[in-house]
Amino acid sequence: VSATRLWGWLSPDNPDPLAAAPLAERMLVEALGLSRLLPTPPEPLDERTLPASRLTPNQSAAIAAALAGRPPARDAASRAAAALGQSYPDQLQRRAGRCASPVDGVACPNSHAQLQALIDAAVATGFRVMVVGGATSVVGGLSVAAERRPLVAADLSGLGEIVSFSGEDRTVAAQAGIRVADLERRLSDKGMTLGHFPQSFEAATLGGSIAANGAGQRSDGYGRITDRLLRLRLATPSGEWLTEPVRHSAAGPWLGGLVAGSEGLLGAITEATMAVSPKPEWTFDAGWLFPSFAAAMQAARAAAQTGIGHSMLRISDEVETAFLSRFRQARAGLRRPPWAERIVLALKRAPANPSLLIAGYEGSARFGADAVRALRGLFRRHGGVALGERPGQSWRRSRYEAPHLRESLMARGLGVDTFETAAPWSRLAGVYTAVGAALSRAIGESSGGSPGIVMCHLSHSYPDAACLYFTAVFPRAGDALAQWRAIKRAACEAMVAAGSTISHHHGLGADHAPYAQREKGDASLRLLRALAREIDPKRVMATGASSLL
Ligand SMILES: Cc1cc2nc3c(=O)[nH]c(=O)nc-3n(C[C@H](O)[C@H](O)[C@H](O)COP(=O)(O)OP(=O)(O)OC[C@H]3O[C@@H](n4cnc5c(N)ncnc54)[C@H](O)[C@@H]3O)c2cc1C
Repeated sequence: VSATRLWGWLSPDNPDPLAAAPLAERMLVEALGLSRLLPTPPEPLDERTLPASRLTPNQSAAIAAALAGRPPARDAASRAAAALGQSYPDQLQRRAGRCASPVDGVACPNSHAQLQALIDAAVATGFRVMVVGGATSVVGGLSVAAERRPLVAADLSGLGEIVSFSGEDRTVAAQAGIRVADLERRLSDKGMTLGHFPQSFEAATLGGSIAANGAGQRSDGYGRITDRLLRLRLATPSGEWLTEPVRHSAAGPWLGGLVAGSEGLLGAITEATMAVSPKPEWTFDAGWLFPSFAAAMQAARAAAQTGIGHSMLRISDEVETAFLSRFRQARAGLRRPPWAERIVLALKRAPANPSLLIAGYEGSARFGADAVRALRGLFRRHGGVALGERPGQSWRRSRYEAPHLRESLMARGLGVDTFETAAPWSRLAGVYTAVGAALSRAIGESSGGSPGIVMCHLSHSYPDAACLYFTAVFPRAGDALAQWRAIKRAACEAMVAAGSTISHHHGLGADHAPYAQREKGDASLRLLRALAREIDPKRVMATGASSLL
Protein backbone atom coordinates (compact mmCIF):
# COMPACT_ATOMS: atom_id res chain seq x y z
CA VAL A 1 0.00 0.00 0.00
CA SER A 2 1.68 3.14 -1.18
CA ALA A 3 2.36 5.70 1.51
CA THR A 4 1.92 8.44 -1.11
CA ARG A 5 -1.80 7.80 -0.82
CA LEU A 6 -1.84 8.84 2.81
CA TRP A 7 -2.78 12.35 1.70
CA GLY A 8 -5.21 12.40 -1.11
CA TRP A 9 -6.41 10.40 -4.04
CA LEU A 10 -3.67 8.47 -5.89
CA SER A 11 -0.91 11.03 -5.46
CA PRO A 12 -0.46 14.25 -3.50
CA ASP A 13 0.87 15.83 -6.71
CA ASN A 14 -2.46 15.72 -8.50
CA PRO A 15 -3.49 19.27 -9.36
CA ASP A 16 -6.27 20.86 -7.30
CA PRO A 17 -9.23 21.22 -9.72
CA LEU A 18 -10.47 24.27 -7.79
CA ALA A 19 -7.10 26.03 -7.51
CA ALA A 20 -7.72 28.62 -10.21
CA ALA A 21 -11.51 28.68 -10.18
CA PRO A 22 -12.74 31.53 -7.93
CA LEU A 23 -16.16 31.55 -9.59
CA ALA A 24 -16.65 27.89 -8.76
CA GLU A 25 -15.76 28.59 -5.13
CA ARG A 26 -18.25 31.49 -5.09
CA MET A 27 -20.94 29.26 -6.51
CA LEU A 28 -20.36 26.72 -3.74
CA VAL A 29 -20.47 29.42 -1.07
CA GLU A 30 -23.83 30.64 -2.38
CA ALA A 31 -25.34 27.19 -2.86
CA LEU A 32 -24.36 26.20 0.68
CA GLY A 33 -25.51 29.47 2.24
CA LEU A 34 -22.06 30.22 3.66
CA SER A 35 -20.07 33.43 3.91
CA ARG A 36 -16.82 31.79 2.77
CA LEU A 37 -14.98 28.49 2.45
CA LEU A 38 -12.43 27.67 5.14
CA PRO A 39 -9.00 26.41 4.06
CA THR A 40 -8.49 23.09 5.84
CA PRO A 41 -5.29 21.56 4.44
CA PRO A 42 -4.47 18.03 5.55
CA GLU A 43 -2.09 17.51 8.46
CA PRO A 44 0.91 15.20 8.15
CA LEU A 45 0.63 11.92 9.99
CA ASP A 46 1.39 12.40 13.68
CA GLU A 47 3.29 9.19 14.34
CA ARG A 48 3.29 9.77 18.11
CA THR A 49 -0.48 9.21 18.23
CA LEU A 50 -0.25 5.70 16.79
CA PRO A 51 -0.38 2.82 19.28
CA ALA A 52 2.71 0.60 19.13
CA SER A 53 2.67 -2.57 17.03
CA ARG A 54 1.57 -5.55 19.12
CA LEU A 55 3.25 -8.23 17.01
CA THR A 56 5.40 -10.52 19.16
CA PRO A 57 8.92 -11.53 18.03
CA ASN A 58 7.53 -15.03 17.49
CA GLN A 59 4.77 -13.73 15.20
CA SER A 60 7.14 -11.49 13.26
CA ALA A 61 9.49 -14.42 12.75
CA ALA A 62 6.59 -16.60 11.55
CA ILE A 63 5.61 -13.89 9.05
CA ALA A 64 9.19 -13.55 7.81
CA ALA A 65 9.36 -17.33 7.38
CA ALA A 66 6.14 -17.24 5.32
CA LEU A 67 7.48 -14.45 3.10
CA ALA A 68 10.87 -15.90 2.16
CA GLY A 69 12.66 -14.02 4.93
CA ARG A 70 10.94 -10.63 4.55
CA PRO A 71 9.66 -9.34 7.91
CA PRO A 72 6.41 -7.32 8.08
CA ALA A 73 6.70 -3.52 7.73
CA ARG A 74 6.05 -1.91 11.09
CA ASP A 75 6.67 1.76 10.39
CA ALA A 76 3.88 4.19 11.23
CA ALA A 77 3.15 5.32 7.65
CA SER A 78 2.72 1.76 6.34
CA ARG A 79 0.61 0.70 9.33
CA ALA A 80 -1.69 3.70 8.94
CA ALA A 81 -1.94 3.52 5.13
CA ALA A 82 -3.04 -0.11 5.24
CA ALA A 83 -5.82 0.63 7.74
CA LEU A 84 -7.34 3.63 5.97
CA GLY A 85 -9.42 3.29 2.83
CA GLN A 86 -11.45 6.01 1.17
CA SER A 87 -14.57 6.09 3.36
CA TYR A 88 -15.56 9.44 4.86
CA PRO A 89 -14.38 8.52 8.39
CA ASP A 90 -11.10 7.28 6.88
CA GLN A 91 -10.75 10.57 5.02
CA LEU A 92 -11.31 12.54 8.22
CA GLN A 93 -8.64 10.57 10.02
CA ARG A 94 -6.17 10.83 7.16
CA ARG A 95 -6.68 14.57 6.86
CA ALA A 96 -6.22 15.01 10.60
CA GLY A 97 -2.92 13.09 10.50
CA ARG A 98 -4.41 10.36 12.70
CA CYS A 99 -5.16 6.69 12.51
CA ALA A 100 -6.98 5.34 15.56
CA SER A 101 -6.65 1.65 14.69
CA PRO A 102 -3.56 1.05 12.56
CA VAL A 103 -2.67 -2.50 11.64
CA ASP A 104 0.18 -4.02 13.64
CA GLY A 105 2.22 -4.89 10.57
CA VAL A 106 2.07 -5.02 6.78
CA ALA A 107 3.08 -8.18 4.95
CA CYS A 108 3.58 -8.24 1.18
CA PRO A 109 3.23 -11.78 -0.17
CA ASN A 110 4.09 -12.17 -3.84
CA SER A 111 2.51 -15.53 -4.59
CA HIS A 112 -0.47 -17.67 -3.63
CA ALA A 113 1.89 -19.93 -1.67
CA GLN A 114 3.26 -17.01 0.38
CA LEU A 115 -0.22 -15.70 1.18
CA GLN A 116 -1.32 -19.20 2.19
CA ALA A 117 1.78 -19.50 4.39
CA LEU A 118 0.99 -16.11 5.98
CA ILE A 119 -2.56 -17.23 6.82
CA ASP A 120 -1.21 -20.53 8.16
CA ALA A 121 1.20 -18.55 10.36
CA ALA A 122 -1.72 -16.48 11.61
CA VAL A 123 -3.61 -19.64 12.61
CA ALA A 124 -0.50 -21.06 14.28
CA THR A 125 0.72 -17.99 16.16
CA GLY A 126 -2.49 -16.09 16.90
CA PHE A 127 -2.69 -12.95 14.78
CA ARG A 128 -5.43 -11.93 12.32
CA VAL A 129 -5.07 -11.18 8.60
CA MET A 130 -6.84 -8.44 6.67
CA VAL A 131 -6.49 -8.48 2.88
CA VAL A 132 -5.76 -5.09 1.32
CA GLY A 133 -6.19 -4.53 -2.40
CA GLY A 134 -6.23 -0.97 -3.70
CA ALA A 135 -7.57 0.40 -0.37
CA THR A 136 -10.34 2.23 -2.25
CA SER A 137 -13.21 0.90 -0.15
CA VAL A 138 -15.63 3.72 0.55
CA VAL A 139 -17.56 1.80 3.21
CA GLY A 140 -14.93 1.04 5.84
CA GLY A 141 -13.83 -2.24 4.23
CA LEU A 142 -10.48 -1.88 6.05
CA SER A 143 -11.95 -0.64 9.35
CA VAL A 144 -11.51 -3.72 11.49
CA ALA A 145 -12.83 -3.63 15.05
CA ALA A 146 -9.92 -3.89 17.48
CA GLU A 147 -9.48 -7.02 19.54
CA ARG A 148 -6.78 -8.63 21.63
CA ARG A 149 -4.98 -10.35 18.71
CA PRO A 150 -2.66 -8.28 16.50
CA LEU A 151 -3.86 -7.47 12.99
CA VAL A 152 -1.62 -7.91 9.95
CA ALA A 153 -2.46 -6.41 6.55
CA ALA A 154 -1.75 -8.67 3.59
CA ASP A 155 -0.93 -6.09 0.91
CA LEU A 156 -1.60 -7.77 -2.44
CA SER A 157 0.36 -5.33 -4.60
CA GLY A 158 2.95 -8.09 -5.17
CA LEU A 159 0.32 -10.29 -6.83
CA GLY A 160 -0.09 -8.23 -9.99
CA GLU A 161 0.57 -10.59 -12.89
CA ILE A 162 -1.53 -12.10 -15.63
CA VAL A 163 -1.37 -15.89 -15.17
CA SER A 164 -2.82 -17.00 -18.49
CA PHE A 165 -4.84 -15.71 -21.41
CA SER A 166 -6.92 -17.62 -23.94
CA GLY A 167 -8.06 -15.85 -27.07
CA GLU A 168 -9.97 -18.99 -28.03
CA ASP A 169 -11.99 -19.09 -24.79
CA ARG A 170 -11.92 -15.32 -24.37
CA THR A 171 -10.70 -15.63 -20.79
CA VAL A 172 -7.94 -14.18 -18.68
CA ALA A 173 -6.61 -15.54 -15.39
CA ALA A 174 -4.87 -12.91 -13.28
CA GLN A 175 -3.48 -12.55 -9.79
CA ALA A 176 -5.89 -10.77 -7.47
CA GLY A 177 -3.68 -7.78 -6.66
CA ILE A 178 -3.51 -6.55 -10.24
CA ARG A 179 -4.95 -3.06 -10.63
CA VAL A 180 -8.05 -3.02 -12.79
CA ALA A 181 -6.44 -0.33 -14.96
CA ASP A 182 -3.26 -2.40 -15.46
CA LEU A 183 -5.29 -5.45 -16.38
CA GLU A 184 -7.34 -3.39 -18.82
CA ARG A 185 -4.22 -1.91 -20.45
CA ARG A 186 -2.67 -5.34 -20.84
CA LEU A 187 -5.88 -6.80 -22.26
CA SER A 188 -6.12 -3.84 -24.59
CA ASP A 189 -2.75 -4.85 -26.11
CA LYS A 190 -4.43 -8.14 -27.02
CA GLY A 191 -7.48 -6.39 -28.47
CA MET A 192 -9.66 -7.36 -25.49
CA THR A 193 -11.42 -5.69 -22.56
CA LEU A 194 -12.71 -6.80 -19.17
CA GLY A 195 -15.32 -4.02 -19.36
CA HIS A 196 -14.97 -3.09 -15.65
CA PHE A 197 -14.62 0.68 -15.32
CA PRO A 198 -15.34 1.79 -11.75
CA GLN A 199 -14.61 5.42 -10.99
CA SER A 200 -11.76 4.06 -8.86
CA PHE A 201 -10.38 2.38 -12.02
CA GLU A 202 -6.76 3.51 -11.52
CA ALA A 203 -6.45 2.18 -7.98
CA ALA A 204 -8.93 -0.68 -7.35
CA THR A 205 -7.68 -4.25 -7.78
CA LEU A 206 -9.30 -7.22 -9.46
CA GLY A 207 -9.56 -9.14 -6.17
CA GLY A 208 -10.97 -6.14 -4.31
CA SER A 209 -13.54 -5.60 -7.03
CA ILE A 210 -14.73 -9.21 -6.77
CA ALA A 211 -14.60 -9.14 -2.97
CA ALA A 212 -16.81 -6.02 -2.92
CA ASN A 213 -18.99 -7.21 -5.85
CA GLY A 214 -18.40 -3.95 -7.69
CA ALA A 215 -20.02 -2.56 -10.81
CA GLY A 216 -18.27 -0.34 -13.32
CA GLN A 217 -19.67 2.54 -15.29
CA ARG A 218 -20.44 0.32 -18.30
CA SER A 219 -21.99 -2.52 -16.34
CA ASP A 220 -25.31 -2.18 -18.19
CA GLY A 221 -23.46 -3.71 -21.12
CA TYR A 222 -20.68 -5.80 -19.60
CA GLY A 223 -22.37 -6.78 -16.35
CA ARG A 224 -20.96 -6.24 -12.86
CA ILE A 225 -17.56 -7.73 -12.10
CA THR A 226 -19.00 -11.00 -10.81
CA ASP A 227 -21.02 -11.46 -14.01
CA ARG A 228 -17.61 -11.78 -15.72
CA LEU A 229 -16.26 -14.16 -13.06
CA LEU A 230 -15.56 -17.76 -14.02
CA ARG A 231 -13.26 -19.26 -11.41
CA LEU A 232 -11.42 -18.27 -8.24
CA ARG A 233 -8.44 -19.45 -6.26
CA LEU A 234 -8.37 -18.54 -2.59
CA ALA A 235 -5.97 -18.94 0.30
CA THR A 236 -8.02 -19.67 3.43
CA PRO A 237 -7.39 -20.76 7.05
CA SER A 238 -8.47 -24.25 5.88
CA GLY A 239 -6.06 -24.29 2.94
CA GLU A 240 -6.50 -23.68 -0.77
CA TRP A 241 -10.04 -23.25 -2.15
CA LEU A 242 -10.31 -23.61 -5.91
CA THR A 243 -13.86 -22.98 -7.10
CA GLU A 244 -15.63 -24.97 -9.83
CA PRO A 245 -13.74 -25.18 -13.16
CA VAL A 246 -16.80 -24.56 -15.35
CA ARG A 247 -19.12 -21.70 -14.58
CA HIS A 248 -21.85 -22.96 -16.92
CA SER A 249 -22.75 -25.99 -14.91
CA ALA A 250 -25.80 -27.51 -13.24
CA ALA A 251 -23.69 -29.65 -10.91
CA GLY A 252 -25.36 -28.27 -7.81
CA PRO A 253 -25.26 -24.64 -6.64
CA TRP A 254 -22.39 -22.49 -7.91
CA LEU A 255 -20.36 -22.22 -4.73
CA GLY A 256 -17.78 -19.91 -6.33
CA GLY A 257 -20.53 -17.31 -6.30
CA LEU A 258 -20.37 -17.26 -2.49
CA VAL A 259 -17.08 -15.39 -2.74
CA ALA A 260 -18.61 -12.49 -4.70
CA GLY A 261 -19.13 -9.74 -2.14
CA SER A 262 -17.56 -11.76 0.70
CA GLU A 263 -15.02 -8.95 1.42
CA GLY A 264 -12.38 -11.30 2.78
CA LEU A 265 -14.70 -13.08 5.24
CA LEU A 266 -14.16 -16.44 3.52
CA GLY A 267 -10.47 -16.13 2.66
CA ALA A 268 -8.15 -14.21 0.38
CA ILE A 269 -8.76 -14.34 -3.36
CA THR A 270 -5.36 -14.90 -4.98
CA GLU A 271 -6.34 -15.54 -8.60
CA ALA A 272 -9.42 -15.01 -10.72
CA THR A 273 -10.36 -16.27 -14.16
CA MET A 274 -12.53 -13.75 -15.94
CA ALA A 275 -14.49 -13.60 -19.19
CA VAL A 276 -13.20 -10.92 -21.54
CA SER A 277 -14.68 -9.37 -24.70
CA PRO A 278 -13.18 -7.95 -27.85
CA LYS A 279 -12.46 -4.24 -27.54
CA PRO A 280 -15.44 -2.33 -28.92
CA GLU A 281 -15.26 -1.40 -32.57
CA TRP A 282 -17.52 1.51 -31.89
CA THR A 283 -18.38 3.66 -28.88
CA PHE A 284 -21.18 6.15 -28.79
CA ASP A 285 -22.12 8.31 -25.78
CA ALA A 286 -24.73 11.04 -26.16
CA GLY A 287 -26.93 13.29 -24.03
CA TRP A 288 -30.65 14.01 -23.84
CA LEU A 289 -32.58 16.52 -21.74
CA PHE A 290 -35.86 15.41 -20.17
CA PRO A 291 -38.53 17.61 -18.60
CA SER A 292 -38.04 15.87 -15.23
CA PHE A 293 -36.09 13.12 -13.45
CA ALA A 294 -39.34 11.13 -13.28
CA ALA A 295 -39.82 11.32 -17.07
CA ALA A 296 -36.19 10.33 -17.68
CA MET A 297 -36.53 7.36 -15.32
CA GLN A 298 -39.55 6.15 -17.31
CA ALA A 299 -37.44 6.35 -20.46
CA ALA A 300 -34.58 4.47 -18.77
CA ARG A 301 -36.95 1.72 -17.64
CA ALA A 302 -38.29 1.37 -21.17
CA ALA A 303 -34.71 1.17 -22.52
CA ALA A 304 -33.69 -1.46 -19.96
CA GLN A 305 -36.82 -3.53 -20.54
CA THR A 306 -36.69 -3.33 -24.35
CA GLY A 307 -33.21 -4.84 -24.31
CA ILE A 308 -31.75 -2.27 -26.67
CA GLY A 309 -28.27 -3.29 -25.60
CA HIS A 310 -26.87 0.01 -24.34
CA SER A 311 -23.74 -0.29 -22.19
CA MET A 312 -24.27 2.77 -20.02
CA LEU A 313 -27.16 4.94 -18.98
CA ARG A 314 -27.10 7.57 -16.27
CA ILE A 315 -29.57 10.27 -15.40
CA SER A 316 -28.84 13.26 -13.20
CA ASP A 317 -31.84 14.55 -11.28
CA GLU A 318 -32.81 18.20 -11.72
CA VAL A 319 -30.55 19.34 -8.87
CA GLU A 320 -27.48 17.48 -10.13
CA THR A 321 -28.10 18.58 -13.72
CA ALA A 322 -28.25 22.25 -12.70
CA PHE A 323 -25.35 21.95 -10.26
CA LEU A 324 -22.98 20.21 -12.67
CA SER A 325 -23.82 22.58 -15.51
CA ARG A 326 -23.27 25.68 -13.37
CA PHE A 327 -20.15 24.21 -11.80
CA ARG A 328 -18.64 23.40 -15.19
CA GLN A 329 -19.30 26.95 -16.37
CA ALA A 330 -17.93 28.47 -13.20
CA ARG A 331 -14.74 26.43 -13.48
CA ALA A 332 -14.37 27.77 -17.01
CA GLY A 333 -14.79 31.30 -15.61
CA LEU A 334 -18.29 31.80 -17.05
CA ARG A 335 -21.22 33.31 -15.16
CA ARG A 336 -23.84 31.84 -17.50
CA PRO A 337 -23.91 29.34 -20.36
CA PRO A 338 -22.18 30.49 -23.56
CA TRP A 339 -24.63 32.24 -25.91
CA ALA A 340 -24.25 29.56 -28.61
CA GLU A 341 -25.35 26.90 -26.13
CA ARG A 342 -28.33 29.01 -25.06
CA ILE A 343 -29.44 29.52 -28.67
CA VAL A 344 -29.14 25.81 -29.47
CA LEU A 345 -31.19 24.87 -26.39
CA ALA A 346 -33.83 27.46 -27.24
CA LEU A 347 -34.07 26.19 -30.84
CA LYS A 348 -34.42 22.62 -29.62
CA ARG A 349 -37.08 23.77 -27.14
CA ALA A 350 -35.16 22.16 -24.31
CA PRO A 351 -37.16 21.97 -21.07
CA ALA A 352 -36.53 24.40 -18.23
CA ASN A 353 -35.07 22.83 -15.07
CA PRO A 354 -34.27 19.62 -16.96
CA SER A 355 -32.83 16.24 -16.10
CA LEU A 356 -29.78 15.17 -18.13
CA LEU A 357 -29.60 11.59 -19.39
CA ILE A 358 -26.39 10.24 -20.88
CA ALA A 359 -26.57 6.91 -22.64
CA GLY A 360 -23.91 5.00 -24.48
CA TYR A 361 -23.41 2.03 -26.67
CA GLU A 362 -20.19 0.09 -26.90
CA GLY A 363 -19.68 -2.87 -29.21
CA SER A 364 -19.93 -3.79 -32.83
CA ALA A 365 -20.49 -1.04 -35.38
CA ARG A 366 -23.09 -3.16 -37.17
CA PHE A 367 -25.40 -3.66 -34.16
CA GLY A 368 -24.51 -0.30 -32.66
CA ALA A 369 -26.19 1.76 -35.33
CA ASP A 370 -29.46 -0.11 -34.73
CA ALA A 371 -29.14 0.24 -30.96
CA VAL A 372 -28.52 3.96 -31.14
CA ARG A 373 -31.42 4.45 -33.57
CA ALA A 374 -33.68 2.53 -31.17
CA LEU A 375 -32.49 4.59 -28.19
CA ARG A 376 -33.06 7.85 -30.05
CA GLY A 377 -36.62 6.87 -31.03
CA LEU A 378 -37.47 5.67 -27.56
CA PHE A 379 -36.15 8.78 -25.80
CA ARG A 380 -37.96 11.06 -28.25
CA ARG A 381 -41.24 9.29 -27.48
CA HIS A 382 -40.61 9.91 -23.75
CA GLY A 383 -40.07 13.63 -24.25
CA GLY A 384 -36.25 13.63 -24.46
CA VAL A 385 -34.50 16.39 -26.39
CA ALA A 386 -31.35 15.08 -28.09
CA LEU A 387 -28.17 17.05 -27.39
CA GLY A 388 -25.84 14.95 -29.53
CA GLU A 389 -22.50 13.50 -28.54
CA ARG A 390 -20.92 16.50 -26.77
CA PRO A 391 -22.34 15.80 -23.29
CA GLY A 392 -21.33 12.15 -23.68
CA GLN A 393 -17.79 13.06 -24.71
CA SER A 394 -17.50 15.52 -21.85
CA TRP A 395 -18.67 12.82 -19.41
CA ARG A 396 -16.09 10.38 -20.80
CA ARG A 397 -13.31 12.95 -20.38
CA SER A 398 -14.17 13.78 -16.78
CA ARG A 399 -15.47 10.43 -15.51
CA TYR A 400 -12.45 9.71 -13.28
CA GLU A 401 -12.16 13.28 -12.04
CA ALA A 402 -14.69 13.33 -9.20
CA PRO A 403 -12.30 11.82 -6.62
CA HIS A 404 -9.87 14.71 -7.16
CA LEU A 405 -12.69 17.19 -6.73
CA ARG A 406 -13.68 15.53 -3.47
CA GLU A 407 -10.16 16.19 -2.15
CA SER A 408 -10.46 19.85 -3.14
CA LEU A 409 -13.78 20.27 -1.36
CA MET A 410 -12.49 18.51 1.75
CA ALA A 411 -9.55 20.96 1.75
CA ARG A 412 -12.03 23.87 1.91
CA GLY A 413 -13.91 22.92 5.06
CA LEU A 414 -16.59 20.93 3.27
CA GLY A 415 -17.74 17.35 3.67
CA VAL A 416 -18.63 15.18 0.67
CA ASP A 417 -20.01 11.69 0.70
CA THR A 418 -21.97 9.42 -1.59
CA PHE A 419 -24.80 7.01 -0.76
CA GLU A 420 -25.91 4.38 -3.23
CA THR A 421 -28.74 1.88 -3.31
CA ALA A 422 -30.90 -0.12 -5.73
CA ALA A 423 -34.61 -0.90 -5.81
CA PRO A 424 -37.21 -2.27 -8.19
CA TRP A 425 -38.56 0.29 -10.66
CA SER A 426 -41.98 0.19 -8.97
CA ARG A 427 -40.43 1.53 -5.76
CA LEU A 428 -37.65 3.69 -7.17
CA ALA A 429 -39.45 7.04 -7.06
CA GLY A 430 -40.40 6.42 -3.42
CA VAL A 431 -36.81 5.51 -2.53
CA TYR A 432 -35.55 8.63 -4.30
CA THR A 433 -37.89 10.87 -2.32
CA ALA A 434 -37.34 9.14 1.03
CA VAL A 435 -33.53 8.99 0.92
CA GLY A 436 -33.20 12.51 -0.49
CA ALA A 437 -35.49 13.90 2.22
CA ALA A 438 -33.64 12.00 4.96
CA LEU A 439 -30.29 13.35 3.77
CA SER A 440 -31.56 16.93 3.52
CA ARG A 441 -33.10 16.73 6.99
CA ALA A 442 -29.97 15.28 8.60
CA ILE A 443 -27.73 17.84 6.90
CA GLY A 444 -30.07 20.67 7.91
CA GLU A 445 -29.92 19.53 11.55
CA SER A 446 -26.17 19.06 11.69
CA SER A 447 -24.61 21.70 9.47
CA GLY A 448 -25.13 25.00 11.26
CA GLY A 449 -28.12 26.11 9.18
CA SER A 450 -26.66 25.28 5.76
CA PRO A 451 -29.09 23.34 3.57
CA GLY A 452 -26.18 21.47 2.00
CA ILE A 453 -26.43 20.20 -1.53
CA VAL A 454 -28.16 16.85 -2.05
CA MET A 455 -28.22 15.51 -5.56
CA CYS A 456 -28.81 12.16 -7.16
CA HIS A 457 -28.27 10.21 -10.33
CA LEU A 458 -29.48 6.90 -11.61
CA SER A 459 -26.31 5.04 -12.52
CA HIS A 460 -27.06 1.43 -13.47
CA SER A 461 -30.28 -0.03 -14.79
CA TYR A 462 -31.75 -3.49 -15.25
CA PRO A 463 -35.07 -4.77 -16.56
CA ASP A 464 -36.41 -5.06 -12.98
CA ALA A 465 -34.55 -2.40 -11.01
CA ALA A 466 -32.05 0.45 -11.00
CA CYS A 467 -29.36 1.98 -8.82
CA LEU A 468 -29.72 5.47 -7.32
CA TYR A 469 -26.53 7.28 -6.31
CA PHE A 470 -26.80 10.29 -4.01
CA THR A 471 -24.06 12.86 -3.46
CA ALA A 472 -24.17 15.20 -0.47
CA VAL A 473 -21.98 18.27 0.04
CA PHE A 474 -22.15 20.12 3.35
CA PRO A 475 -20.02 22.34 5.59
CA ARG A 476 -18.05 20.21 8.04
CA ALA A 477 -19.13 20.63 11.64
CA GLY A 478 -16.73 20.88 14.62
CA ASP A 479 -17.35 17.23 15.43
CA ALA A 480 -17.21 16.11 11.80
CA LEU A 481 -17.41 12.41 12.63
CA ALA A 482 -20.59 12.78 14.70
CA GLN A 483 -22.09 14.93 11.97
CA TRP A 484 -21.32 12.30 9.32
CA ARG A 485 -22.67 9.51 11.53
CA ALA A 486 -26.01 11.34 11.81
CA ILE A 487 -26.16 11.91 8.03
CA LYS A 488 -25.11 8.36 7.18
CA ARG A 489 -27.57 6.85 9.67
CA ALA A 490 -30.42 8.89 8.21
CA ALA A 491 -29.64 7.73 4.66
CA CYS A 492 -29.19 4.07 5.63
CA GLU A 493 -32.33 3.96 7.77
CA ALA A 494 -34.33 5.50 4.91
CA MET A 495 -33.00 2.84 2.51
CA VAL A 496 -33.79 -0.02 4.86
CA ALA A 497 -37.27 1.37 5.61
CA ALA A 498 -37.99 1.78 1.89
CA GLY A 499 -36.92 -1.82 1.22
CA SER A 500 -34.03 -0.90 -1.05
CA THR A 501 -30.59 -2.47 -0.67
CA ILE A 502 -27.98 -0.92 1.60
CA SER A 503 -25.49 -1.06 -1.29
CA HIS A 504 -25.67 -1.65 -5.02
CA HIS A 505 -21.90 -1.73 -5.65
CA HIS A 506 -19.83 -0.30 -2.78
CA GLY A 507 -20.24 -3.31 -0.52
CA LEU A 508 -20.71 -3.62 3.23
CA GLY A 509 -17.56 -2.76 5.16
CA ALA A 510 -17.92 -1.56 8.73
CA ASP A 511 -20.30 1.21 7.67
CA HIS A 512 -23.03 -0.93 6.09
CA ALA A 513 -22.67 -4.28 7.87
CA PRO A 514 -25.05 -3.34 10.72
CA TYR A 515 -27.83 -2.56 8.22
CA ALA A 516 -27.28 -5.69 6.13
CA GLN A 517 -28.54 -7.84 8.98
CA ARG A 518 -32.10 -6.65 8.34
CA GLU A 519 -31.76 -6.97 4.58
CA LYS A 520 -30.37 -10.50 4.59
CA GLY A 521 -32.60 -12.07 7.21
CA ASP A 522 -31.85 -14.72 9.85
CA ALA A 523 -31.70 -17.85 7.67
CA SER A 524 -29.19 -16.39 5.20
CA LEU A 525 -27.03 -15.01 7.98
CA ARG A 526 -26.99 -18.35 9.82
CA LEU A 527 -25.76 -19.97 6.61
CA LEU A 528 -23.04 -17.37 6.10
CA ARG A 529 -21.88 -17.74 9.70
CA ALA A 530 -21.78 -21.54 9.41
CA LEU A 531 -19.73 -21.23 6.24
CA ALA A 532 -17.28 -18.81 7.83
CA ARG A 533 -16.98 -21.04 10.94
CA GLU A 534 -16.22 -24.05 8.74
CA ILE A 535 -13.57 -22.34 6.64
CA ASP A 536 -12.11 -20.13 9.38
CA PRO A 537 -12.80 -21.74 12.78
CA LYS A 538 -10.38 -19.44 14.63
CA ARG A 539 -11.76 -16.26 12.98
CA VAL A 540 -8.38 -15.35 11.56
CA MET A 541 -9.70 -13.47 8.51
CA ALA A 542 -10.53 -9.89 9.48
CA THR A 543 -12.37 -7.27 7.46
CA GLY A 544 -14.58 -4.25 8.00
CA ALA A 545 -17.67 -6.40 7.48
CA SER A 546 -16.65 -8.90 10.22
CA SER A 547 -19.50 -7.75 12.48
CA LEU A 548 -21.88 -9.51 10.06
CA LEU A 549 -20.65 -12.77 11.56
C1 LIG B 1 -13.45 7.61 -5.87
C2 LIG B 1 -14.01 6.25 -5.81
C3 LIG B 1 -14.87 5.82 -6.80
C4 LIG B 1 -15.41 4.54 -6.75
N1 LIG B 1 -16.21 4.12 -7.76
C5 LIG B 1 -16.68 2.85 -7.77
C6 LIG B 1 -17.46 2.36 -8.86
O1 LIG B 1 -17.71 3.07 -9.84
N2 LIG B 1 -17.89 1.09 -8.80
C7 LIG B 1 -17.60 0.27 -7.75
O2 LIG B 1 -18.00 -0.88 -7.77
N3 LIG B 1 -16.89 0.72 -6.70
C8 LIG B 1 -16.41 1.97 -6.69
N4 LIG B 1 -15.66 2.42 -5.62
C9 LIG B 1 -15.44 1.56 -4.45
C10 LIG B 1 -14.17 0.69 -4.51
O3 LIG B 1 -13.28 1.16 -5.49
C11 LIG B 1 -14.56 -0.73 -4.80
O4 LIG B 1 -15.26 -1.26 -3.71
C12 LIG B 1 -13.40 -1.65 -5.15
O5 LIG B 1 -13.95 -2.84 -5.66
C13 LIG B 1 -12.50 -1.96 -4.01
O6 LIG B 1 -11.32 -2.59 -4.54
P1 LIG B 1 -9.93 -2.46 -3.78
O7 LIG B 1 -8.95 -3.28 -4.53
O8 LIG B 1 -9.58 -1.06 -3.56
O9 LIG B 1 -10.29 -3.18 -2.41
P2 LIG B 1 -9.94 -2.71 -0.93
O10 LIG B 1 -10.54 -1.38 -0.68
O11 LIG B 1 -8.52 -2.88 -0.68
O12 LIG B 1 -10.75 -3.81 -0.12
C14 LIG B 1 -12.15 -3.84 -0.09
C15 LIG B 1 -12.62 -5.03 0.75
O13 LIG B 1 -12.35 -6.26 0.06
C16 LIG B 1 -11.40 -7.05 0.79
N5 LIG B 1 -10.45 -7.55 -0.21
C17 LIG B 1 -9.65 -6.82 -1.02
N6 LIG B 1 -8.95 -7.64 -1.82
C18 LIG B 1 -9.31 -8.90 -1.51
C19 LIG B 1 -8.93 -10.19 -1.97
N7 LIG B 1 -8.02 -10.35 -2.93
N8 LIG B 1 -9.51 -11.27 -1.40
C20 LIG B 1 -10.43 -11.15 -0.44
N9 LIG B 1 -10.81 -9.95 0.05
C21 LIG B 1 -10.27 -8.84 -0.49
C22 LIG B 1 -10.76 -6.12 1.80
O14 LIG B 1 -10.34 -6.81 2.96
C23 LIG B 1 -11.90 -5.13 2.08
O15 LIG B 1 -12.79 -5.69 3.01
C24 LIG B 1 -15.10 3.69 -5.66
C25 LIG B 1 -14.21 4.14 -4.67
C26 LIG B 1 -13.67 5.39 -4.75
C27 LIG B 1 -12.71 5.84 -3.70
